[in-house]
Amino acid sequence: MTDNNSTAPDCCAESISGLLQVSEARERIASQVKPVRGEEQVHLRAALGRVLAQPVISTIDVPPYTNSAMDGYAVRGQDLPAHGDVQLAVVGTAFAGEPFGELVGKGECVRIMTGGKMPDGTDTVIMQEHAERDGDRICIQAGHQQGQHVRQAGEDMAAGQAVLEAGSRLLPADLGLIASLGIGEVRVSRRLRVAFFSTGDELRSIGEPLGEGQIYDSNRYTLHGMLTRLGVEVIDMGVIRDEREAVREAFLEASRCADAVITSGGVSVGEADYVKETLDTLGAVGFWKIAMKPGKPLAFGRVGDAAFFGLPGNPVSVMVTFYQFVQPALREMMGERGAAPITVRVPCATALRKVPGRTEFQRGCLQHDRDGALVVSTTGLQGSHVLSSMSRANCFIILPGESSGAEAGEPVEVQPFEGLV
Ligand code: AMP
Ligand code: MG
Repeated sequence: MTDNNSTAPDCCAESISGLLQVSEARERIASQVKPVRGEEQVHLRAALGRVLAQPVISTIDVPPYTNSAMDGYAVRGQDLPAHGDVQLAVVGTAFAGEPFGELVGKGECVRIMTGGKMPDGTDTVIMQEHAERDGDRICIQAGHQQGQHVRQAGEDMAAGQAVLEAGSRLLPADLGLIASLGIGEVRVSRRLRVAFFSTGDELRSIGEPLGEGQIYDSNRYTLHGMLTRLGVEVIDMGVIRDEREAVREAFLEASRCADAVITSGGVSVGEADYVKETLDTLGAVGFWKIAMKPGKPLAFGRVGDAAFFGLPGNPVSVMVTFYQFVQPALREMMGERGAAPITVRVPCATALRKVPGRTEFQRGCLQHDRDGALVVSTTGLQGSHVLSSMSRANCFIILPGESSGAEAGEPVEVQPFEGLV
């Protein structure tokens, strides 16, 4: 921010300096992307990480029958003693998969194992540790509750109930949940296709020798990783040279084959010549400056029918802008609902430095202190080119625009990477 702006109110300061707030950029992007059309039927095992296109409706009660939650004896609630003890006759067994087929009468009980179907007439389970067995009889004391240690039919899921909504991303528990209904296939949104390439004449790919002033392209690898974890189909188009025809060809091809196109590099002022020129003819793209650090320059719009994200070139900026803007947009395009990542407030272990003005996404390490309480510490050098700071981190420390840093022990907002898919 310039000195002229430092006396203006915060909200105006940003607009005077031409910077877009992070939340505003997110909203603008959200208003322009929508779920892609198309769904497919996949086997349950292949559905991990996919987004449900239709709700999963339970066809049966789960559990399908009332059963025991413990190893012990199935008894009639009326037979429980109010005082002292009572003797019951053991008239049979009910094991998981081998029910006791008859009615249990007054003064009787059945030996039952976990998961065994509750025999007719019984409604209560006495844990084996609480029953004294003597031949064909057991003795139980007072103090038990009628209905205890019993899992009711349909208590997990009832027939006809929507157990998973459309828009849910399927996790391991969901696969098991669907399997417990006896359903082997689900309808999911089709896979999103995302093409990406790097721009910059200084970039070399792995396997090529490095000349003077050249660096290896790392952004395509972080993008490959982040996109793969998101479960999209990745189309890696390599490094594109800063030449008019090459840039044009790359954008044309990418927009033909993908739902979204991501580039890195070439969006900062004075550099974006061919990229900007090409995008002006092929689509509608805005070049933004966002009030954030790292990741100030960002281009967003459309190229042909594809959504376009032009990320800055610096390796940390690529990851920060991907997680803050691209990932939420792609999740929306995948049809996912309710995907907002969680943040938590945690004290920082040491003081954090920051100049007021832009929202900072510092790299942090969330860990336990000696007393077992969660604290967050910085991963050190915070330059947008320092990818090792990102590699050592397990979270972002989000310091809001007006913040001038934090004292040691002060709570700060933390976004764990785990929640970012
Ligand atoms: P730019 O946004 O093109 O000005 O790039 C900013 C910085 O990021 C420069 O130091 C570039 O060399 C570097 N950079 C750009 N693209 C990549 C890439 N794909 N991999 C690693 N560094 C990059
Ligand atoms: Mg460049």
